[in-house]
Amino acid sequence: MQVKVDQSKCQGHNRCYAIAPELFDVDDLGNAFEIGDGVVSPQLVEKARLAVANCPEYAISIVED
Ligand code: SF4
Repeated sequence: MQVKVDQSKCQGHNRCYAIAPELFDVDDLGNAFEIGDGVVSPQLVEKARLAVANCPEYAISIVED
């Protein structure tokens, strides 16, 4: 599984970062991006789905393996 932030939709609420700092980081403008290649380790799957559900802009997508 991988997470991906759509930069054109992200409005920088930072909820994803607050929920899963292992998966997301924020740039100087406050917009989020996935860390590395966005691969989600098994122990972070729950957090990844929580981040998707809590993004008000629907900017985070999950790519299943
Ligand atoms: S929660 Fe959504 S809109 Fe907010 S920073 Fe994360 S990806 Fe961007």
